Amino acid sequence: MTDLRRQWGRAPWIRDRYSFVRSKAASRPDVAIIGGGLTGVSTAYHLATKGTRSLLFEAGLIGDGASGRTGGLVLEGTAVGVLDQVDKCVPGLRSIVAREEIDCELSLPGCWEIIHGKNAKRQLPWADDGQPIGIANTVSGGVVQPAALTIGIAKAAERLGAVLFEKARVLRISFEGGLCLEVDGERIFPGYLVIATNAWINATLPGAPPLHSSLTYACITAPLSDADLGSIGMAEGIPFYTKDLPYLWGRTLRDGRTIFGAGLTFGNPEALEGSDIHKDNPAAMLSRLRRRVPALHPVLGKTPIESCWAGPIAFTDSTVPLLGPHPANPRILVSGAYAGHGVALSVRAGDLIASSIHDNQPLPEWGRLSR
Ligand SMILES: Cc1cc2nc3c(=O)[nH]c(=O)nc-3n(C[C@H](O)[C@H](O)[C@H](O)COP(=O)(O)OP(=O)(O)OC[C@H]3O[C@@H](n4cnc5c(N)ncnc54)[C@H](O)[C@@H]3O)c2cc1C
Repeated sequence: MTDLRRQWGRAPWIRDRYSFVRSKAASRPDVAIIGGGLTGVSTAYHLATKGTRSLLFEAGLIGDGASGRTGGLVLEGTAVGVLDQVDKCVPGLRSIVAREEIDCELSLPGCWEIIHGKNAKRQLPWADDGQPIGIANTVSGGVVQPAALTIGIAKAAERLGAVLFEKARVLRISFEGGLCLEVDGERIFPGYLVIATNAWINATLPGAPPLHSSLTYACITAPLSDADLGSIGMAEGIPFYTKDLPYLWGRTLRDGRTIFGAGLTFGNPEALEGSDIHKDNPAAMLSRLRRRVPALHPVLGKTPIESCWAGPIAFTDSTVPLLGPHPANPRILVSGAYAGHGVALSVRAGDLIASSIHDNQPLPEWGRLSR
């Protein structure tokens, strides 16, 4: 993937080299969307299915933020559980993938919630810093190839009339009087504006609640044989995340490689964008992960780690995501800060935003920005 943020390392997801059409942006679109991750492309897609055309501006390539770097665990609800209107994110994602025939390796065998200690329903053959680990619950969900999902939804949006601009960073937004964006030396005056910039929300939009933006880390091993996957308890292809600390998530890929992720380094969006995984705190986080994964099981101890990468996430103070209108202008809608639990949720958020703009459907109370 030719990405803007090379110093974050390369996620293993193969990105289709599709180029979105570059035309001149209409100066007065019904809707402008900032951010070409899953939230932005899903908003463009759902608006387009309702006949509303939008312009989407992405600073890098589609999927250059979290959506092309995520682990791709498909989870229900939010990081704080299922909330009003976000209780069927997984079936919603499955229907879009089927309807648009998106080839993104979606598999929904469930997801393990795992815990440290001996109180699990089923122990895994791992030791994390000397502590046993086991499965506490299996919840609904599974895995997806996230770059393929993001590009697939973006292409479907484009087919239905949305216009997506890559390498188009929005430099300024003003909303006194009418809405105005500055991008590529042009001024755009949309009827509605959707902010889908995730860890960059505070850099994009004045007046949004202060978020805790961070980088989070992952690594991928060389392929394991079926026998080795069986030995480490991962032959069923069920992804997992810890319910307790120290946090760890992981999954397998179809070719036998395994991915593990953990760790956070916080900073403002500009500082994070300049972070380098080979230096300072990011390097320390990755070397901790590189030591932790081989120690989980002897099979992992003899399996090389192929590569590591980082990606951006954001948290609100309460970990409840943002999904609502800007307090100073109801025509600006913001969605993000999913606290690392946003693959299926971001796709659902795009649906909810499109219904709010097109059908005047109220957005859920929990997502409001004035907290
Ligand atoms: C390493 C990692 C692992 C994760 N694992 C999981 C997981 O397994 N399961 C799960 O559910 N969630 C996971 N997440 C979280 C999930 O990936 C995100 O919540 C989700 O992808 C967010 O999508 P988004 O569209 O809101 O944001 P993003 O995909 O980050 O998109 C925001 C976009 O905005 C663009 N942008 C920013 N500023 C501007 C500007 N001024 N002008 C134009 N464009 C701009 C950025 O370039 C970026 O592409 C993970 C995240 C990371 C980083």
